Amino acid sequence: MVDNKLSLNISRCTGCGACIGKCPFSALAMSYNNGEFKNIKKVVFNADKCNGCGACINFCRFGALFIK
Ligand code: SF4
Ligand code: SF4
Repeated sequence: MVDNKLSLNISRCTGCGACIGKCPFSALAMSYNNGEFKNIKKVVFNADKCNGCGACINFCRFGALFIK
């Protein structure tokens, strides 16, 4: 069990897609259907796949990805 998983500040996500494909566990994807941001392309995060490695964080220039 990993305690430190990725956290996502979805309001900061511009949908640039720079983080997509950088996760070795395919925990990140893009979607137009993301709760309150429906119809706006944003990253979606699958916590079940994330092991908290942090590899994706430096690819986000907008501070949307972080480890707590
Ligand atoms: S912290 Fe690691 S495992 Fe989790 S989403 Fe980012 S790259 Fe993937
Ligand atoms: S790199 Fe950051 S802003 Fe771009 S899609 Fe990923 S989380 Fe969103």
